[in-house]
Amino acid sequence: MSATDCIFCKIAAGEIPAKFAYQDDEIIAFHDIRPKAPVHLLVVPRVHIESLNDIRPSDGQLLSNMLMLLPKLALEHGLKNGFRTICNNGPDGGQEVNHLHFHILGGGGRLPGF
Ligand code: AMP
Ligand code: ZN
Repeated sequence: MSATDCIFCKIAAGEIPAKFAYQDDEIIAFHDIRPKAPVHLLVVPRVHIESLNDIRPSDGQLLSNMLMLLPKLALEHGLKNGFRTICNNGPDGGQEVNHLHFHILGGGGRLPGF
């Protein structure tokens, strides 16, 4: 999938609406349209990186900033007792949107195991 027909690129560009939880010049976060838990956020880089299979050393600071944002957003959304983060990669990883993103899930008590 190219960046031009990528739904998360379109959300980042403001071309498709989303319920935003966070935005800066390199990262956006918004509520998942089909939430799997009471709180279900997606943390997404503005730049189109398909998955963790495609990261480069020059993406290190961006990835660090994304990871540090996860607990901050989780706490801001009331997940004081913990949260789950998921990053699906590639077809066998269950990735549906081929633009790197971290899920933040929680808020309904202990999440089930796999
Ligand atoms: P993944 O399987 O990790 O690629 O997850 C993609 C996620 O994106 C799913 O949980 C979808 O519900 C979510 N999603 C797809 N389209 C949208 C959208 N327009 N706004 C918000 N979330 C979306
Ligand atoms: Zn994209």
